[in-house]
Amino acid sequence: MTNITKQIRDAGIVGAGGAGFPTHVKAASKVDCVIANGAECEPLIHKDYELMVHYPEEVVRGVEYMMHATGATEGIIGIKEKNTAAIDAIQKYLRSGMRLHLLGDFYPSGDEFILVYESTKRLIPPQGYPLHVGIVVNNVETFYNIARAMDGTPVTEKFISVSGAVKKPFTGIVPVGTTFRDLINLAGGTTVSDYGLFVSGIMMGKLEFDLDQPITKTCAGLIVLPRDHTLITRKSLPEKAMHSIGKSACDQCSYCTELCPRYILGYDIQPHKVMRSLGFTKTGTDYWNQYASLCCACGLCTLYACPESLFPKEACDQSKRVMKEEGITWSGKMDIEPHPMYEGRRTPLKMLVKRLGITEYDHHMPFVDRIAEDVRMVRLPLQQHVGKKADPLVASGERVKRGQTIADVGEGQMGARIHASIDGVVNVEQDQIVINR
Ligand code: SF4
Ligand code: SF4
Repeated sequence: MTNITKQIRDAGIVGAGGAGFPTHVKAASKVDCVIANGAECEPLIHKDYELMVHYPEEVVRGVEYMMHATGATEGIIGIKEKNTAAIDAIQKYLRSGMRLHLLGDFYPSGDEFILVYESTKRLIPPQGYPLHVGIVVNNVETFYNIARAMDGTPVTEKFISVSGAVKKPFTGIVPVGTTFRDLINLAGGTTVSDYGLFVSGIMMGKLEFDLDQPITKTCAGLIVLPRDHTLITRKSLPEKAMHSIGKSACDQCSYCTELCPRYILGYDIQPHKVMRSLGFTKTGTDYWNQYASLCCACGLCTLYACPESLFPKEACDQSKRVMKEEGITWSGKMDIEPHPMYEGRRTPLKMLVKRLGITEYDHHMPFVDRIAEDVRMVRLPLQQHVGKKADPLVASGERVKRGQTIADVGEGQMGARIHASIDGVVNVEQDQIVINR
């Protein structure tokens, strides 16, 4: 393990873009290119933008460390061309072997397959990873965390946006483990009495109603929407109801496939065919399920493409689950060639925001930097990452200092360390450690 890889591991860094893959594992690979993902295409979330504007030196330095660790000779930072302040900020710090790649304002330009193709013209093989084409991709916040780790600071903070139906939407830095309740209070409270929360995004995040849940190392933010907003009503439907509506109402128009970002990139994902699995028994299902294998769960088919407001993404989720249980993997075509209409069929973010019915919430949010002192209590789940749950290293009643390691996985095991994100007294529970300031 190199010194950089060790410091990344010791700092408990995991992919901050949502996946939670331990970053030291990626840093131990050998590639020729490192890509920082600053595309940020989830509507109403602007934390990567603010991070690049306010902490550009750390982002670029993090990319440089990752290039050293992996032996990469090229570093690319992908930013939307509309985000001129972020571009100007990052540009000043670019070093030898690095370049910016400017992306259009499409959803989901931050999908790894799309980002890799757009910035290098390399196509990741079906069911493969960027590593298979010699690339490591991480969210820009992960690179910021790497630079901080090399300065001796572990992951105790999270960049997040709190938006939607709140009085003072903001983007800021809070301690990992801050509860949704505290975040809503920091945003001045809600503008509606009955609401639901989209955690980490409307398109790919999950719907939550429990305000005592915490922000983890992978959360991008909270979007508060009125309880009767269509997005909440639709997301709240039981899966069985989604599939039974789909079974009877899908007219096989194939819009879901024609607008699927992975399909237009050349991958054989065809959600309209997956919809056929809903009406079949075992043998037929196995056949149609295959067309879901390469779905990245971006949600575009369900929330944008389908004129009948059906749930092709959820049908794909179910098909992937069944295939996993049965040990079936992709056996279709491996040669990938972007669709002739690739450029013209991409979905502009503006049109997506309109279709989602959230235009009234889509405005600038101030950046408030660190607001740690206002947070009195944090909940730190022991599983915030891909791999093994971390084991507590502290006992209830013990006093801890911010930055102290409080849970870890064994040497050589897949997982990540967890550090105290505020000073205080711990309470060790089965799946989390609570710290009261
Ligand atoms: S867009 Fe909707 S109606 Fe058309 S094929 Fe897809 S799921 Fe069926
Ligand atoms: S969620 Fe739908 S649009 Fe997105 S990749 Fe999957 S099938 Fe394609």
